[in-house]
Amino acid sequence: MAQEHQIRSDILDFKPYSAGLSIAEIKKKYNLKQVLKLASNENPLGTSPLVQQTIKKYADCVFRYPRPGSPDLREQLAKTISVPQDCLVVGNGSDEIIDLLMRVKPKPRENNVIIFEPSFSIYGLQAKLCGLETRRVPLNHDLSFSFEKLLSRVDQNTSFVFITNPDNPSGYTVKKDDIFYLAERLPKNSLLIVDEAYMDFVEEKEIYSCLADWAQSSNIVVLRTFSKMYGLAGLRIGYAVMPSWLADFTLRIKLPFSVNLLAEQAALTALQDKEFYRATWETVYHQRHYLQKELKSLNCQVYPSQANFIMFRPPIEAKTIFEKLLARGIIVRTLESYGLNQHLRVSIGMESENKQLIENLREILQTVD
Ligand SMILES: *Cc1c(COP(=O)(O)O)cnc(C)c1O
Repeated sequence: MAQEHQIRSDILDFKPYSAGLSIAEIKKKYNLKQVLKLASNENPLGTSPLVQQTIKKYADCVFRYPRPGSPDLREQLAKTISVPQDCLVVGNGSDEIIDLLMRVKPKPRENNVIIFEPSFSIYGLQAKLCGLETRRVPLNHDLSFSFEKLLSRVDQNTSFVFITNPDNPSGYTVKKDDIFYLAERLPKNSLLIVDEAYMDFVEEKEIYSCLADWAQSSNIVVLRTFSKMYGLAGLRIGYAVMPSWLADFTLRIKLPFSVNLLAEQAALTALQDKEFYRATWETVYHQRHYLQKELKSLNCQVYPSQANFIMFRPPIEAKTIFEKLLARGIIVRTLESYGLNQHLRVSIGMESENKQLIENLREILQTVD
């Protein structure tokens, strides 16, 4: 491209985010009437009916600007999760909060950010965009975490250490005691960011989540999202709990209207909709057990998961399975962008969808043998 010299040289190698394929794309490409998407860890039950009512109710208000900083939602969240309101930041997805954190605290070309390799791509991308050095620490061979290895890369210039709990794409989950201990051992000016995007799906959350005891520590940020358990991925809304001094400056630099009016109202309703939460939890819990059992019986190596997805290594080439499933109208996630060419990730769907996945997988494996 002739005009590349006009672009910052440190971002020339950025590639578009590799998202799960969309249903519309696949319908068109393979001329299919029905397509099943189990690729982006979306809610198997869809959008809560109560949330849909709220969105309709507020449709005639969208000519108004939302209130900056989503104060109603911050107030409600403070009550719901028992944290001070001035420690809460609401964002356009937790993605926006990750981006804001990278801008507000670390100094470009001076500070570094430590992440596992592989990990959620947004951490590394936003760090690079903000001119920060990213130190990548390999996961253990079984994709579990070594906090000792993480700590060995930390120094006085480390602004953030990121962990994802449960981890994406492996599903690996680590206990909160280990996380608090890691936080204690960081240098004074380093923060531990714990991305709990999938924590809602965990059994015995009290053993794994940092949120309830968050105040015990002065250097932990917890990220949560409405995209998964609450089924609001398309509306873009998430939140973080962080020390009040950091929340203060994060809110000062945030674009005032990045969280839209419908998203804030939908999130308020989603917090009230206990029935949808319960139904989602039960579906994911039972179907996770079902899928794990069936995948194992098809000779797949299944990684333990506490999230609403399962990573596995099929007995034949992952790419072959992916393409054959696609031609049959089932979208799963390849993990090349995570450097895991032998593995696939499937989101847990409704019972009938998971059965369909397993039946198709069985047929594919029988024909290639
Ligand atoms: C899905 C996901 C999120 C949530 O992102 P949103 O921007 O809130 O939709 C955050 N972190 C990880 C690791 C995820 O997989």
